[in-house]
Amino acid sequence: MEYAPAAPISIASILSPQNILRQVFGYEAFRGPQQAIVDHVVAGGDALVLMPTGGGKSLCYQIPAIARQQAGHGTTIVVSPLIALMHDQVGALHEAGVEAAFLNSSLSSEEAATVEKRLLRGEMTLLYAAPERVTTPRFLAQLDALAERGQVALFAIDEAHCVSQWGHDFRPEYRALTVLHERYPGVPRLALTATADDLTRADIVERLQLEEARQFVSSFDRPNIRYTIVEKKDATTQLLRFIEREHEGDAGIVYCQSRRKVEDIAQTLCDAGLKALPYHAGLDAAVRQANQDRFLREEGLVMVATIAFGMGIDKPDVRFVAHLDMPKNIEGYYQETGRAGRDGAAADAWMAYGLQDVVNQRRMIDESPAGEEFKQVMREKLDALLALAEATDCRRVRLLGYFGEKSEPCGNCDNCLHPPAVWDGTDAARKLLSTIYRVQQMSSISFGAGHIMDILRGKDTEKVKQYGHETLSTFGLGAEFSEAQLRGVLRQLIAIGAVGVDAQAFNTLYLTEGSRAVLKGEVTVQLRESVSTPSTKRSRRAGVTAPAAANLGVDDQVRFINLKAWRAEVAREHNLPAYVIFHDATLAEIARRSPQTLEDLQGISGIGEKKLQAYGEAVLRVISLSNS
Ligand code: ADP
Ligand code: ZN
Repeated sequence: MEYAPAAPISIASILSPQNILRQVFGYEAFRGPQQAIVDHVVAGGDALVLMPTGGGKSLCYQIPAIARQQAGHGTTIVVSPLIALMHDQVGALHEAGVEAAFLNSSLSSEEAATVEKRLLRGEMTLLYAAPERVTTPRFLAQLDALAERGQVALFAIDEAHCVSQWGHDFRPEYRALTVLHERYPGVPRLALTATADDLTRADIVERLQLEEARQFVSSFDRPNIRYTIVEKKDATTQLLRFIEREHEGDAGIVYCQSRRKVEDIAQTLCDAGLKALPYHAGLDAAVRQANQDRFLREEGLVMVATIAFGMGIDKPDVRFVAHLDMPKNIEGYYQETGRAGRDGAAADAWMAYGLQDVVNQRRMIDESPAGEEFKQVMREKLDALLALAEATDCRRVRLLGYFGEKSEPCGNCDNCLHPPAVWDGTDAARKLLSTIYRVQQMSSISFGAGHIMDILRGKDTEKVKQYGHETLSTFGLGAEFSEAQLRGVLRQLIAIGAVGVDAQAFNTLYLTEGSRAVLKGEVTVQLRESVSTPSTKRSRRAGVTAPAAANLGVDDQVRFINLKAWRAEVAREHNLPAYVIFHDATLAEIARRSPQTLEDLQGISGIGEKKLQAYGEAVLRVISLSNS
């Protein structure tokens, strides 16, 4: 291990959770349901916690871990699939003066043996371990030894949705975790996740045998995230414009579906003068790790990635998440966009979406080897996301509605800020459907979207002539519609299942069960007018804090910049991301207050006792130098 043992927390008597929050972590108050959860778990209860990303799940087990250890119950075992992040999480605890370690495949056998020895000696408050490690006979034997002495304080099962195949990160190893409950029925368990549709939640309860556990369900709203979904035209240019206009110099994540596209976009962003890196499963493991480390440690980097990147990325100051391809479902969209703005300051979730996305996603489901029942669930989940993308009303109301929450229009999504003009596409939809029908009837050959639209718009193309389609009664019947309009109608028809796409046959279109209702005029098709996004400067929603550096005066700025330089130095020495030392918001507050004494530093959010001891003097020196 590279860490020297941290000094133990200097407390004579047992601390209350409130005191632990203040003294160890430097925070003034619990957030939302944290207090209730902590109290329940400290008292030995089981719990299932559903809280959005950035809600503050870690403290829900870290504080009980400290409290229960002080009460003589021993060590808390944290099960997490995120091997790459354990190092930083443990580092952050050390910075706060808490004894912790991790066990995973990145350790040599000697290092692992040292950790195991310390575990058996009861020297640590928290041990992070990967699920496949926890369920080995070797590890269970060690737990047996601890449990016999009553020295297992708590099992915290992070990213609990991994146990469910309905979640988006299914890990078979999670299924074996029931052994913990069966073998150590007296040890409390706390399962946590940010993914919480009903299906997944029920699955977690069943698979982890948490029927008796108390459920704590937070609001899933992330008020600081602004949702925007634009119609895909030239996605790369649209992305560049979005970043240049709104996020110059900010850290962000751009999600693409394929490895090749990841490489291309990363290159394009670099060519445009941005700092961008690629991340996908096809890269060498060492390159992947190095890129992830740079993203976490450097400022203002854009990571272009497939969904292989990001589960549990706990970098708090990611200012935007952009999707150039559509995810599979709302859970995925929510999880991925949730990586923006964990620090609570304003952030953007931006997606470009088009007809091809709909076709691709449907094809992937159709072609997957899964059973029909599973495919049906996947189709329904995709439909819900398509409905969100096509929506002309508040995105947040729909998102939260998907997770079973009622809300009012938010004022912080594209549709609320710039209500789209809506037109009635029912007539166009019926004309498109009858064209598909007539073409099919005439020659028993199916055709793709482009050709169908050409017929309806009365275009005299080679293909039209070749098949004699100018003789169809719908030829030219939709001359008044633009191609963009028809494309929008088709996209929506495919989205609602009223048109099928045959991926095996050049994406040709065919009628479905759902076509009839539209043809008969029983279903109306409301569409957003295809307009380019207005380029008005952003205004902030009331109650959403600006990023840390905003609103700093000139002198504050100087102090802030010097503090950041000092922090970068410390982070490098400790081999940790800068935000583990202090968040931007903490540095900004120090810069604003310009403290003279250690006492002045006390009470600034994010400065606990250990950090005050370790860094207080150095921070004061930076301030005094900046002011001279
Ligand atoms: P999650 O795991 O739910 O995504 P984290 O546990 O990483 O969220 O917490 C998100 C951020 O919020 C972290 O930077 C954490 O330090 C901060 N945080 C959590 N609880 C509090 C609190 N009560 N007061 C201030 N900051 C908090
Ligand atoms: Zn809204």
